[in-house]
Amino acid sequence: MEPKMQPKLLVVSGPSGVGKGTLLRRVFAESGFPLMMSVSATTRKPRLGEINGVHYQFLSAEEFETKRKAGEFLECFEVFGKGTWYGTLRRTVEEGLVAGNWVVLEIDIKGARTVKEQFPDAVLLFIEPKNIDVLKERLLGRGTETEEAMRRRLATALEELEHAHEFEHRIVNDDLDIAVRQFIDIIKSKV
Ligand code: ADP
Ligand code: 5GP
Repeated sequence: MEPKMQPKLLVVSGPSGVGKGTLLRRVFAESGFPLMMSVSATTRKPRLGEINGVHYQFLSAEEFETKRKAGEFLECFEVFGKGTWYGTLRRTVEEGLVAGNWVVLEIDIKGARTVKEQFPDAVLLFIEPKNIDVLKERLLGRGTETEEAMRRRLATALEELEHAHEFEHRIVNDDLDIAVRQFIDIIKSKV
């Protein structure tokens, strides 16, 4: 399959811990599409094993603010309340599209809305859990968050789930194989 024409932006949102990263890794490996992950910038500290420039561009608050003021972000927000910024770099997205890639943004729903305003044909997907207990288990199971961070992430998750209906495409990440197939079918329908 060579679905190279008209590369699109794929915007993937959903609560922290729902399995977006896990799902995307499978989709990247199995879709056969020229997908490119947009590496966001953030002021959060790297987790063990996270590499600067691969998982995120890790910036200080000052560095982030300088880029924000210079208009380098397509969108940026303090995702879990005040204090920690995340943003999509305009240049990363533009270069990816020019190179013929389908650029994937894994961003929160506020970011998704902003991107849709600027790229009306962006494809928005929302990944949801079967229920909130499953989400809590996954976040706990991943073991990356402090108690305070977990509390904030769950509060944000509940808010985000209320806005799932705004998304054109929704996928319940219960059985991973099924979710992967649904995701790939959605991309194929956009060629
Ligand atoms: P996110 O990127 O949305 O924050 P992750 O991809 O880090 O979420 O997944 C959170 C945890 O849930 C990980 O431990 C992952 O292995 C697990 N997980 C993801 N998808 C599934 C699934 N369909 N079934 C069971 N566990 C899953
Ligand atoms: P984490 O800290 O677990 O890596 O990411 C937490 C959440 O931040 C993700 O679920 C994702 O929705 C959001 N996020 C990551 N990068 C960006 C970004 O560039 N912009 C926005 N708006 N949200 C982002």
